[in-house]
Amino acid sequence: MNEFAGMIADTVNIPDVHTVLVVDDDESICELLKTALAPHYSVTTCINGEAAMAFIGENSYDLIITDLVLPDVSGIDVLAYAKSRDEFAEVLMITGNATINSAAEAINHGVGSYMLKPFSIPTLLGRVEKMVATRMFHLKSLQLMKRSDLIHPTIKAYIDDITTLYHFTRKLMLTLEISEVMRIILEEANQKTGADFCSLEVAYLEYREIYTMPITGEISKERLDRIFSEHWGAAFPCTVKESFQNGDIPLYIYKGRQGEFDAANEYTCLNLPLIVTGKTIGSLTVWVAAGKEIDHRLDQYLHILTSITSPVIEHVYSDLLARFQARTDSLTGIANHRHFYEALEREIARANRKQSTFALVLADIDNFKTINDTYGHQVGDAVIIELTKRLNANIRSGDVVARYGGEEFGVILPESDLEGAVVLANRVCESIAETPFVSAKYKISYTASFGLAMYNGADPVDKDDLISRADKALYQSKNAGKNRVTVAK
Ligand code: GH3
Ligand code: MG
Ligand code: MG
Repeated sequence: MNEFAGMIADTVNIPDVHTVLVVDDDESICELLKTALAPHYSVTTCINGEAAMAFIGENSYDLIITDLVLPDVSGIDVLAYAKSRDEFAEVLMITGNATINSAAEAINHGVGSYMLKPFSIPTLLGRVEKMVATRMFHLKSLQLMKRSDLIHPTIKAYIDDITTLYHFTRKLMLTLEISEVMRIILEEANQKTGADFCSLEVAYLEYREIYTMPITGEISKERLDRIFSEHWGAAFPCTVKESFQNGDIPLYIYKGRQGEFDAANEYTCLNLPLIVTGKTIGSLTVWVAAGKEIDHRLDQYLHILTSITSPVIEHVYSDLLARFQARTDSLTGIANHRHFYEALEREIARANRKQSTFALVLADIDNFKTINDTYGHQVGDAVIIELTKRLNANIRSGDVVARYGGEEFGVILPESDLEGAVVLANRVCESIAETPFVSAKYKISYTASFGLAMYNGADPVDKDDLISRADKALYQSKNAGKNRVTVAK
């Protein structure tokens, strides 16, 4: 009986000499790896997938190193075959051309490590040592578990949980792509809880993103939309913004502004916060149809799961946040100058392509220096914040509002005609003049001036020209007595 057959029977053999199988169609790589590994391991090499699978079928290897692209089958097939023979098989994938999809597939199939060519031999040896040690650790635990019928089932279940968590953590560490991280966590939570579906909610700045995945593919996107709109109420746009299908079951993403929600619907929810250094960054929710019980023995497992995953989620989001913050004005939370220019360039390209028109409106608060001088800079800031709210309240969802300068704002109204843009600018102008800014201490009436310029895709101009036309119109509003809208000629 070979070692592998022994392993799935009653006893587990722990080998003295560790064996490594190297699979690569480039013979020079086989030789290189063999030379590097030979002092410590017993190495077998082969140059295609078919030979590899034959070896794996006959022998037990402590580590399999395979190229992703092989002449016959894919390295993923070798990985899947090795895992089907031995769930503790350690597979190191080496590739010259990794894509996010191939990485996701390898992770799904339980790859232990992923290395890009060219790699350094010391790095490789470090990985190999770690992976072989991991396998030995598992074989020893397995040996213990198999030998002792005396272990109480509860203890066995705990050891199982620990092993599962260990595998899960390794899988999680292999990727840094947000949707992949979320998919791996949701798959684990679904599997462990047997819930109808689980969701991960992440809150950042003013925004909220919810990732969700049904336990089987049976719950449709439309049904999820309905369940979520009952749960989140009007505060959140309950339609899927993106969906991914790297695994068997789709991952759905909802995005929107944060708001309060009311939690009554046909599902019972178990909610676990995601906490990083004392700060709650979101939550994991386990959804079970009303009438079915949530197994509360799982609480402990899920708490450990969320404490492992919270820092990983925080890490992948910090990158997204940095990019988001680079485009956002910190005082008002609206787009900044840079984002405004990018949006303007995009809009010009679109209008040129579609031969359509759009409007650019520039606004500047009148006599703002006086507000600052009379009430102080902080009150001035509050006026600026309040003005952005008035602007936001008057625009459509595709319009862009940006803080263009200190107390100057830019508004892009895509696909707008002159008449519509003038109506909107006048409405905002009037709403500012009519409703004073009110704080606990002060009631301040103020006004703003506007300059409006139309862009016509049939007669393209440079973005600086467009801005300068709107700016001149704004200047005319100021000269003509402020608190008005002027349309550029
Ligand atoms: P006008 O009607 O001609 O626009 O007069 P104005 O007083 O508004 O003059 P101007 O636009 O030239 O000056 C804007 C002032 O806004 C100058 C600056 O001190 C102040 N300011 C710029 N950014 C901020 C800010 O973030 N907060 C506050 N409180 N004040 C700001
Ligand atoms: Mg001003
Ligand atoms: Mg100004």
